[in-house]
Amino acid sequence: MKKKIYLDYNATVPLLKEVKNSLIDCMDVGPLNASSIHYYGRKGKEIIDIARTNIGELIKTNKNNIIFTGSATEAINLLFSNFDTIVVSSIEHLAVLSSSKSDHIISVNKDGIVNLNFLEFYLKKLTNNSKKILVSVMWVNNETGVIQPIEDVVEIAKNHGCLVHCDAAQALGKVKINLEEIELDFLTISGHKIGAPTGIGALIYNDKIHLKPQILGGGQEQGMRAGTENILGIKGFGEAAKFINNATENNYSEVKSLRNYFEDKIKTLSPETIIFGEKANRVANTILMALPKIPGDLALMKLDLESFSVSSGSACSSGKVSKSHVVSAMGYDNLATNSVRFSFPPNDAILNLENLITKKELDRLARCWSNL
Ligand code: PLP
Repeated sequence: MKKKIYLDYNATVPLLKEVKNSLIDCMDVGPLNASSIHYYGRKGKEIIDIARTNIGELIKTNKNNIIFTGSATEAINLLFSNFDTIVVSSIEHLAVLSSSKSDHIISVNKDGIVNLNFLEFYLKKLTNNSKKILVSVMWVNNETGVIQPIEDVVEIAKNHGCLVHCDAAQALGKVKINLEEIELDFLTISGHKIGAPTGIGALIYNDKIHLKPQILGGGQEQGMRAGTENILGIKGFGEAAKFINNATENNYSEVKSLRNYFEDKIKTLSPETIIFGEKANRVANTILMALPKIPGDLALMKLDLESFSVSSGSACSSGKVSKSHVVSAMGYDNLATNSVRFSFPPNDAILNLENLITKKELDRLARCWSNL
């Protein structure tokens, strides 16, 4: 059997060994319910507090402004349940598009970058009525890897008196996030995108703004998200955050050079390939591309038979390849069912840990692509 080559890190990052070991240690501590008054309860609280500190240090925010949830999707739903008017970009993840139910949609250009002039124009029109408006634009797109001009979005939104949320699920571990340097009101993140287990996310909120909880019960997470805390998930999230924070300078250059090597091979062997957002500022690990005559589901199946685990980037929970609303929004509607995403480890620290992807394997992948 051929060795499996995993290139779907934007879907989920394998549990980091450091994280796994810390979880085993945590399981050995005993029965951990942080609401209990006794020794084990205090231990549980301490574990949660350390994780909060680690995540706070990674993104430079006050640890008390972090609310743990069951996923980034839940964090987004919790936030959005507090607003009637939400302005979103057309390339947001379904977690944002579905839960906002917004018909205030800002277009993107051919490179997949949010149209700032349109945002400005739209908010000018919308802010004539007095309702509190939330603007929600993602930091990094999950399909293309294109980095959005989030500082400009914040400036425009603030000039119009709006609050701003950023879905940073794909940005964490791939770009520097420093909440002391950007005036975001809300940020949402997901543990499994940086090597923690699935089932843990967080909402970082501006505590000057009153939010109502969505899940009611025992008052956990400062009353913002009831339910006995997922201690293993929280511990894992904290350990993954510490790992990334400690990685020297958070480098992306080795990932980028592998990704660029692969991209160059593709361009040489299959010049008809379209690479989405190629000219834009992209994170180092992602490529979304399409062949005009090959449907994405066929490409995925053939690559899977060759032991490459890649994704369409737009797969829904049924595992079926659906039309990519991101590719459509970029003006390539004719290619929206053809796109295939290759996502490498998010940063050099994780790439070096896994040490699984060689140039030889990328040569074989590029050859398979050209023979589809
Ligand atoms: N936002 C983006 C951009 C994502 O890529 C994802 C996951 O794929 C999510 C939100 C949802 O994250 P979670 O899996 O934690 O619900």
